[in-house]
Amino acid sequence: MRERRTKGTALSREVVERVDRLLTEADHVLITAGAGMSVDAGFDYTDERQFGRRYPRMAERGPRCRYHVFGYPWPSEAVQWGHLARHLQELRFQPPPNPTPYLQLCALTAHRDRFVLTSNADDLFERSGFDPSRIWTRQGSYSRLQCLARCHDDATWPAEQWVRAALPCVDLATEELVDATLVPRCPRCGGRAMLNVRGGDWFIDKPYQPQAHRLRAWLDQAASGRLLVLDVGSGFNTPPVVRWPAEEIAHRHADAHLVRVNRDHPAVPAELGARALSLACAGAPLWAALTERAAVAA
Ligand SMILES: [Zn+2]
Repeated sequence: MRERRTKGTALSREVVERVDRLLTEADHVLITAGAGMSVDAGFDYTDERQFGRRYPRMAERGPRCRYHVFGYPWPSEAVQWGHLARHLQELRFQPPPNPTPYLQLCALTAHRDRFVLTSNADDLFERSGFDPSRIWTRQGSYSRLQCLARCHDDATWPAEQWVRAALPCVDLATEELVDATLVPRCPRCGGRAMLNVRGGDWFIDKPYQPQAHRLRAWLDQAASGRLLVLDVGSGFNTPPVVRWPAEEIAHRHADAHLVRVNRDHPAVPAELGARALSLACAGAPLWAALTERAAVAA
C-alpha cells in the first residue's frame, strides 16, 4: 500500500478528543505495537549511553547498543551467555524503567474487545495486564530459549530458571559466564541454544502459533462492528511484522479506523482517507492525556 507523505498531526486537545471518541465507539480494538512502545517503557535498543553504562565490557568488544548485539559474532560462549543472562534479566524478568505507558494503555482499553499484535519480545503487554491468550508476539519472546539447530518444533523451553541460575555466575568485571556447566543446551539433542526470537531461519515459532490462529479468528469476528487499529511505535526495521499488517487490516475492514502514533514515521496510506489519523508523537503523552481525560470524566 502506498504511504502518504505526511508530517503527522501534533498532539492537541482536539486530537486527544478524537482518539478518545474512536476508542469509545469501537467494538473491537487491535493494538499493533513496535519497538517505539517499549522505548517509552525505557527499553531503547539504539541508546548507546545506556548500553555503555550497563555493559561497559561489551561496549569495548564492539556492540555499542542493544541492536548491535543481534548478529554479533560472539567470541566465546562465556561472553555470549554472560551477556544474554543479563539481557534477559533486564528486559524480561525485572520491571521496566517506566511501566506507566503500558499500564495506562491497558487501563484505557480494558473494557474493549481487544487483541495485541507486537514485534516486541519483552512480553510487556502480558506483564502489564493484557490477556496473554490475545497477544501475538510474532517475533518470539525473551521468556523462552530454543535449540539453535531446530532439531524439533518442540525444542523450546522457559528461560527464567536458567537466568536465575546463571546471573550469580556472571563476572561483572569481564561480563562473562564463569561456570561453563551453565551454558544452556538443548534438552532434546544437547546442541547449542539460542533465545527463542526470530533472528534467522532457525527460529521456532510454534509457541506463538495458537495466538496467530486466534488473531485470525478474532479478525473474522471483528468484521462485524467498528474496529479501531491502534498502531504505536512501529517503524521500518521490520514493517511486514506489524506496520503493514496494521494498514492491510484497516484497509480490508470497511468500518475500521487506523490511528498511527509514531514520533518518527507517522505516515499513513492515502487510500484510508479520513479513516486514518496520523499522530507525530510517542505513545506515552497520548496515553497520559487520555488517562487524564478519563479521570476528569469519572
Ligand atoms: Zn536440539
